[in-house]
Amino acid sequence: MAENRIDIKSLTEQELHTLLTEMGQPRFRGGQVYKWLHQGVKSFDEMTNIPAALKEKLVENCYISVAAIEKKLISAYDGTVKYLFSFADGETVESVLMKYHHGYTSCVSTQAGCKMGCDFCATGKGGFRRNLTASEILSQIQTEQLDNDLRISNIVLMGMGEPLDNYDSVIRFLELVSSEHGLNIGMRHISLSTCGIVPRIYDLAEKKLQLTLSVSLHAPNDEIRSRTMPVNKKYPIGELLKACRYYAEKTGRRISFEYAMIDGVNDSDACAKELARRIKGMLAHVNLIPVNSVSGSDYRKSRGDRIKSFIEILAASGITATVRRTLGSDINASCGQLRSAVAKEKAAGGNVSNESVFTK
Ligand code: SAH
Ligand code: SF4
Repeated sequence: MAENRIDIKSLTEQELHTLLTEMGQPRFRGGQVYKWLHQGVKSFDEMTNIPAALKEKLVENCYISVAAIEKKLISAYDGTVKYLFSFADGETVESVLMKYHHGYTSCVSTQAGCKMGCDFCATGKGGFRRNLTASEILSQIQTEQLDNDLRISNIVLMGMGEPLDNYDSVIRFLELVSSEHGLNIGMRHISLSTCGIVPRIYDLAEKKLQLTLSVSLHAPNDEIRSRTMPVNKKYPIGELLKACRYYAEKTGRRISFEYAMIDGVNDSDACAKELARRIKGMLAHVNLIPVNSVSGSDYRKSRGDRIKSFIEILAASGITATVRRTLGSDINASCGQLRSAVAKEKAAGGNVSNESVFTK
């Protein structure tokens, strides 16, 4: 069923003002409705200070999108919670709530599936379903806050999907989530991760947002990168790094390069030297992530001594690199895996319980 009504939670406060003024409402009404929407109400009925006649009108013309909990896994190690959320049309995405010393971080999805087809990624292997709306991205954070009765202080756009392939909705989401009467999460507390859609990196640079741009590099040259990440055939590493330099200069913000360490593929000393040569002098940091094995690929984590050597070679060129701390290692299995496991269980006619604590 196609939804013809307005996706009201995707509207900015200004757009909501305009809509409600057109409905003959006083000036303050937009602010009231905006606050309710950003507190995470699921229906217009919950808006107690809104007149009944207006609520009826809103139900007729608008809908409130929600992220419903389809399945939930809680790590027995560190309390990390992994969610499988479903939307009105039945599409599902994953999101992870993590606790760090500085507060709670939510890792949200921006698309159901992904078109980019990276070889090591469970989401990429599952194909593309559709873009998420700004409100659907926001709803993941709202549901997590309400489900756990806490305030999320940091967001990473590192769940399923390629954020810069859903550029307009992602920009709209950023505006909503950082707005004063919304969740008010500052751009400095937000990271956006991309596989390297070069033209959109330039677009983003012009906006001069104070967010952290993470670039999934995962290889030091075209030969290895094109083998593992098809996007590199369209936007080769040289062009990508040029865009990254431009971004760092334009925004004054440090780029975070993500580098999944894959045994025997991209973890040699020669790879480290080539990487160092290419990003030397750039305002950047390297995040090394021992690759998570996913079904359907033979990739294995690099050995500890390889990672150590990599860090030393980068450090010799003045590049700081750290190994990403992995939270929820018992439930992690990188984004895309929970969704495909549930789909398989359902296809096999299995009973899918919606909450489990993994003890291992
Ligand atoms: N599409 C965006 C953001 C989502 S993926 C991107 O690619 O950047 C989030 C991060 O997880 C990316 O850095 C991605 O390369 C990484 N990733 C995907 N599969 C992985 C795996 N099996 N092991 C380690 N990191 C992985
Ligand atoms: Fe898509 Fe990112 Fe996975 Fe690549 S790593 S397939 S871009 S989600």
